Amino acid sequence: MPEELLEVDYRPPKKSWLEPTVEFRKGTYCYSAAAKRQEYLGLANPRKWQPYEEDWKLPENWKETILEGMKERLNNYRSFRLFLDICVRCGACADKCHFFIGSGDPKNMPVLRAELLRSVYRRNFTLAGKVFGKFVGARELTEDVVKEWFYYFYQCTECRRCSVFCPYGIDTCEITMMGRELLDLVGCNIDWVLDPAAKCYRTGNHLGVPPHAFKPAIETAVEDVEEITGIKVEAPINRKGAEVLFIPPSADYFAMPHWFTLLGYLMLFHEIGLDYTWSAYAAEGGNFGLFHSMELAKRLNAKIYAEAKRLGVKWILGGECGHMWRGIHQYMDTFNGPADFLEEPVSPITGTKFENAKSTKMVHICEFTADLLNNNKLKLEPSRNEQWKVTFHDSCNPARSIGLIEEPRYIIKNVCHYFYDMPENTIKERTFCCGSGAGLGADENMEMRLKGGFPRANAVKYVHEKYGVNLLACICAIDKAAFPPLLEYWVPGVEVAGVHELVGNALVMKGEKERTTDLRGEPLKAEEGKGDV
Ligand code: SF4
Ligand code: SF4
Repeated sequence: MPEELLEVDYRPPKKSWLEPTVEFRKGTYCYSAAAKRQEYLGLANPRKWQPYEEDWKLPENWKETILEGMKERLNNYRSFRLFLDICVRCGACADKCHFFIGSGDPKNMPVLRAELLRSVYRRNFTLAGKVFGKFVGARELTEDVVKEWFYYFYQCTECRRCSVFCPYGIDTCEITMMGRELLDLVGCNIDWVLDPAAKCYRTGNHLGVPPHAFKPAIETAVEDVEEITGIKVEAPINRKGAEVLFIPPSADYFAMPHWFTLLGYLMLFHEIGLDYTWSAYAAEGGNFGLFHSMELAKRLNAKIYAEAKRLGVKWILGGECGHMWRGIHQYMDTFNGPADFLEEPVSPITGTKFENAKSTKMVHICEFTADLLNNNKLKLEPSRNEQWKVTFHDSCNPARSIGLIEEPRYIIKNVCHYFYDMPENTIKERTFCCGSGAGLGADENMEMRLKGGFPRANAVKYVHEKYGVNLLACICAIDKAAFPPLLEYWVPGVEVAGVHELVGNALVMKGEKERTTDLRGEPLKAEEGKGDV
């Protein structure tokens, strides 16, 4: 019951935070990665184990391996050393993490989450820590500390909300990322990260969909569009020489409610006559490697650019995905770039040059569509979205990592009559995470997901009760999967949709038949001529 999860105890524990104490209670952690996935990806120490077991079967030299790995990363990543050195423990980030708000566990405060690793850094890499030990917050690396790292670094969705409030710009997400890398060196990973990563490595997408299943999925979407609009749209796959390569998150062509976003893309591309192609190989914009290590993220990111080269396209358009944009925007150039063989993206419809994509050559679908709207290139009938009172969830990565904040709102306001933002301190750069990102969307982790998702759900509840909001729009595949159970639990009566589903509903296509349903197959409740709110 929601009331039970709302009973959060914020009183500090009696034990010192330096003592590692973790209880692997069902519902609050993710299962370990299966040995076969570790083997497939060539990772260390593949074995059968689970976090709740006493013996984690760490390799004999586990301690040296982790400390050596830490040393290497301190030398390679200046941000890592800086973030470990400069925290003044002011506490400004302490109450900003959704997992702390939802669980009351002090080790879910960003500052303390980072201290779990920083304390080992102090003990082994600083003079003060070596001499004064626990008096300066330093501690030994023990097996219990490793277990504690695993618990709390897989209770961080790498959302970066805390970094917005830190006066020094410390990004605890980056510390979590390094923590996960160090755990990987001794074979401690979760299955919900390595399963999709291994599938992506094998087939090009997280769901493991092979080319002969990808094609029929897209063909089914084409049939759905025809049924709704009477128009048979084209959906070229692996077409060499197309101007644009389009890359969605794989959930868009296999999951609900993502599917309706896919229909929206197909309708839009047809209507503007875009010269583009899908790829059966680079059929995934997401990158679960990012939740594991820089190395794996780099390996998975490479396929997008290899495919763009093979197909000879000019530039890349990316779909409604969250962390794909963090990977592309923040790391692409040093991963696999610069992508000199591609051209600087220019919209073939409006002539707009996407200056921000000069280096990556990859444009976000919301930037692309907002530009079309801004240039009056689309005919719209917003009353086809009359049944929805919409709010927008800023997905963490598009909002905080690439600053994509106004474009989705601009699109929604053009294609819907009713739009209401959630309270200011819960949106835009300060948006609250869905609680299931960075690989934590596993079923076995549901209690922690519901707790972590509570601050976001609470803001949805506010606009639901005040304005009757019944639709949460978002632009991230993980969000679209995470929100339905979260909202059903905390705010029943609010559905979830992609922004391009709403675009597809409102788009008036040349030669279309009179529409009787929306993209979900629900009868239209059109009240044409309503003014914008
Ligand atoms: S806000 Fe920044 S400096 Fe202050 S405790 Fe948090 S991470 Fe440290
Ligand atoms: S990155 Fe997000 S989940 Fe991680 S500590 Fe910061 S606020 Fe919490």
